[in-house]
Amino acid sequence: MINFQYARANDVADAVRLITADPRARFIAGGTNLIDLMKEDVERPTRLIDITRLPLKSVEETADGGWRIGALVPNSDLAYHPLIAARYPMLASAILAGASAQLRNMASTGGNLLQRTRCYYFYDTATPCNKREPGSGCSAIAGLNRMHAILGTSEACIATHPSDMCVALAALDARVHVTGPAGERAIAFSAFHRLPGDTPQRDTNLQPDEIVTAVELPARGFAANYTYLKIRDRLSYAFALVSVAAALELEGDAIKEARLALGGVAHKPWRDPAAEAALCGQTANQSTFARAADVLLRDAKGFEHNAFKVDLAHRAIVRALTQATAGTPQSQSDKKIR
Ligand SMILES: Cc1cc2nc3c(=O)[nH]c(=O)nc-3n(C[C@H](O)[C@H](O)[C@H](O)COP(=O)(O)OP(=O)(O)OC[C@H]3O[C@@H](n4cnc5c(N)ncnc54)[C@H](O)[C@@H]3O)c2cc1C
Ligand code: SF4
Repeated sequence: MINFQYARANDVADAVRLITADPRARFIAGGTNLIDLMKEDVERPTRLIDITRLPLKSVEETADGGWRIGALVPNSDLAYHPLIAARYPMLASAILAGASAQLRNMASTGGNLLQRTRCYYFYDTATPCNKREPGSGCSAIAGLNRMHAILGTSEACIATHPSDMCVALAALDARVHVTGPAGERAIAFSAFHRLPGDTPQRDTNLQPDEIVTAVELPARGFAANYTYLKIRDRLSYAFALVSVAAALELEGDAIKEARLALGGVAHKPWRDPAAEAALCGQTANQSTFARAADVLLRDAKGFEHNAFKVDLAHRAIVRALTQATAGTPQSQSDKKIR
């Protein structure tokens, strides 16, 4: 039995005060990741700070026509929110591609951003893992690495970020609002998650004494031509081998603007401005899409068991952009929420 304390935060300032007072404390929201990590002895917080009563559960329009999503909005509520489903269907589609209905009912917006990798060795405390225990080594590089990264890896870690929602948020150019002892700040989504480098124990640029309060979506939702395509071992309840969030603004056959982000391939949602630039101003067809995929994957490198992901990602990008051009949602669940 490993003891820990429990405290309930009354407001955001109280949550920040409690976490600042104890660097080994952790916030708990839906608990769908943190509790598993505690059961596996990967996380051993001295104290759980329950943030579920904080007033961070609303979805509100911002002055510039975007939307501010409270950090405690459950994943299900967000996916089925009429405005999100209508204006940001790619985000709704990505959320519904993740986990199961029960998990999405519990999982929070903030917790989804901060969920940890699904690398098998990270969960197995009998094996070396630089992310869990810095300096101990990486068991995945020469081990079972089928689910692992092909882009942005380091000699210290080749883990992927497991979220679906975050891939769509990256493509939509969201911003993450956080509060800490020094006050509030906003972080561009592309700067929120980190590459592993030589500090794989740090997944994000959130400071240990900061709380995520909201995610802000800009006004543009790309609701006409979008796709979230998730390739996985089973059709549901499985993490992505490769996923693609693709959004286009078209003028006839010409691509005026393109957004492209990948999941399952890197330590963070992978968005590459050069690949998007390769699409802009071009005709929306297979050869344009294949060229953009070549650009995005130019530095991709597979390991013993995941080299197939490079080709899989290429084909997934072309397919996602083809579907986005046709204005075809990916699955039946998308059709229901449109
Ligand atoms: C079996 C299973 C399958 C899954 N499949 C998928 C999938 O296919 N795709 C997918 O995207 N996800 C999947 N998930 C992951 C799921 O989406 C996450 O577990 C969930 O989003 C985490 O949210 P939570 O509120 O439960 O976080 P918690 O478990 O409460 O917290 C997770 C982490 O975030 C921190 N935290 C939470 N809220 C805040 C905040 N506001 N500010 C600062 N820190 C905070 C906590 O301290 C903790 O470190 C799966 C999970 C399970 C168990
Ligand atoms: S890939 Fe990262 S998380 Fe997995 S064993 Fe290596 S260091 Fe740990």
